[in-house]
Amino acid sequence: MADLLAAYRHTTDNRAEIESSRSCGCCSCVQIFPPDDIVAWSGLDASSFDDPDAASLSGGTALCPHCGREAVIGDNSGYRIDAAFLTTMNEAWFQRTIIRKPQPKR
Ligand SMILES: [Zn+2]
Repeated sequence: MADLLAAYRHTTDNRAEIESSRSCGCCSCVQIFPPDDIVAWSGLDASSFDDPDAASLSGGTALCPHCGREAVIGDNSGYRIDAAFLTTMNEAWFQRTIIRKPQPKR
């Protein structure tokens, strides 16, 4: 679980990491795609809204080109981006099937 928590941090404010990755994947729709497919980023600094050029150079969080969610992780994070990894992340964070342990019966 600690690994998944650490991996999840790579899905936000990850622009530099994504752009230096060879491939990336989405934890929401479990698609694998090249970083070039990402066309939208969220979380840009509000101070640069009036300057599109500055905004395009600043950080941001990758939005999945397939489902639009902030759930993209690149292989430059150190994690191997494959279907098994993305499925595990998907189950942990979007279906929440392995986070909660059953409560002990009283
Ligand atoms: Zn997606």
